[in-house]
Amino acid sequence: MLVELDPQSQSQAQPLPQAEPIPPAERSVGRVMVNCPTDSKPVHTGQRMTRRNLAAVASGMAFRCERCNAIHRWGAGDAWLEAPRG
Ligand SMILES: [Zn+2]
Repeated sequence: MLVELDPQSQSQAQPLPQAEPIPPAERSVGRVMVNCPTDSKPVHTGQRMTRRNLAAVASGMAFRCERCNAIHRWGAGDAWLEAPRG
């Protein structure tokens, strides 16, 4: 059976999960890189995200490679964040 929530009771809700502190290394946004399977060199996927978001990426992401102009598919296990400069 469904439970109806009274909107005025939401202030009594449990703390949100994102209330937990996030380490700075996981907050910084970087360019997502993968190895181009054609020339085995790092290439930018066109995505920018945090390490935490990257870890949650499912496989099956796709982008057009700026090195070989082909479509490559990638998942969290294939990718890493480019080290920020400075
Ligand atoms: Zn490529």
